[in-house]
Amino acid sequence: MLANLTPVEYEIFMLLVQEPMLTNKQIALMREKNKPSGVNKHQTTISEHTVASHVRNILEELDITSRYLLQQYAIQQGLYCPKKGCACVQKKL
Ligand SMILES: [Zn+2]
Repeated sequence: MLANLTPVEYEIFMLLVQEPMLTNKQIALMREKNKPSGVNKHQTTISEHTVASHVRNILEELDITSRYLLQQYAIQQGLYCPKKGCACVQKKL
């Protein structure tokens, strides 16, 4: 279930929910870009392979067969609304 995801897994989950076509490499690069400078200086950047393993864990934990189905799952769970900028789910994100 969703509550069992680690913070990193949840972050990757939300990225894939919003943009299902993201590759593992793109996710790794995005996480690098979003890293606050200074704060996480000692945190190592996650690699493409690490992202792949996180994605596997996420799918296994949520019992979902494909990363492309994560968005559908999030819509069903009320975590995501395909209407861009819609206020109905903003507080949950
Ligand atoms: Zn909505």
